[in-house]
Amino acid sequence: MSEIEKVQCLIIGSGPAGYTAAIYAARADMKPLMYQGMQPGGQLTTTNEVENFPGYPDGITGPAMMMELEAQAKRFETDVRFGFIDKVDFSGDIHKCWTESGKEIHAETVIISTGATAKYLGLESEQKFLKNGGGVSACAICDGFFYRGQETVIVGAGDSACEEAHYLSKLCTKVTMLVRRDEFRASKIMAERVKNTKNIEIIYNTDTVEVLGDDVVTGVKAKNNKTGEEITIPATGFFVAIGHKPNTDIFADYINLDDTGYIKYEKPGTSYTNVPGVFVAGDAADKTYRQAVTAAGTGCMAALDAERYLSAKGH
Ligand code: NDP
Repeated sequence: MSEIEKVQCLIIGSGPAGYTAAIYAARADMKPLMYQGMQPGGQLTTTNEVENFPGYPDGITGPAMMMELEAQAKRFETDVRFGFIDKVDFSGDIHKCWTESGKEIHAETVIISTGATAKYLGLESEQKFLKNGGGVSACAICDGFFYRGQETVIVGAGDSACEEAHYLSKLCTKVTMLVRRDEFRASKIMAERVKNTKNIEIIYNTDTVEVLGDDVVTGVKAKNNKTGEEITIPATGFFVAIGHKPNTDIFADYINLDDTGYIKYEKPGTSYTNVPGVFVAGDAADKTYRQAVTAAGTGCMAALDAERYLSAKGH
């Protein structure tokens, strides 16, 4: 059996929340250990150009930004490791975590920054554009700007879809919203807002069949699920807003989650979870803002809260 590794601060996940937590924790001499997770760099690595993170006047690609954050975390000697934590036991004062290879780590503080995963339809054409980096996105606030003056399609009917459709309507000449049932899931006020926006066309009872185009998106083929009628909607951008899944399953036995799996803050305005010494940052606890800069902000909070927790214990 391999030796148990003891650390002051374990950071689980490596998006902007995790790296910011690492920078602060390392500079506070907490000698953080980070496990990067299944998708090192997190959701931003699937984004092409990031233009809304302060400090990059010319924009930066998601992967390049993550490499810079990683370099900054390592500059202060964060121990950044490839691999992921797949089991935890938060029942005691020392927080036990295990990597996928069975290595046991005992951490005095844990910062959860495992993020969330955007849901996609799973269509082959959708995945093709997603992989090639253009035309398909799960974040209108991140990518809508690239489609200004153009026509876009968005699928979904929850609060996110409404918020994103409305955001797109201010940039695009036309937004077509595909709703799979004959009603919205979104709150009435959000649904009314899109219904009352002139350049948003809502098409009900409709499923996406294919995202059209060879190298770039040229349109969307959709089908009425009541009549079977197919239509083709011209568009250069296809947005998917059908929800996110927070990556919190392994914590469910110990950490209080809401009914959609997001971690609940124990005390608003802090990064505390219900388990003393375990803190949360980024999208694992955020279904409202979901931005790199807000994730980074909560990463900073989690490291400061962890540092204060350790100080109170006499470190
Ligand atoms: P939701 O789960 O609320 O909504 C998902 C939507 O996507 C539903 O309309 C669903 O359809 C649709 N959908 C799911 N799968 C498919 C599919 N395969 N094809 C077509 N449509 C599909 O997710 P949201 O991200 O919108 O919201 C998550 C939570 O965050 C909610 O609690 C919401 O209130 C909250 N939120 C709040 C905001 C705010 O207050 N400003 C902003 C954004 C989110 P169907 O209805 O048929 O199931």
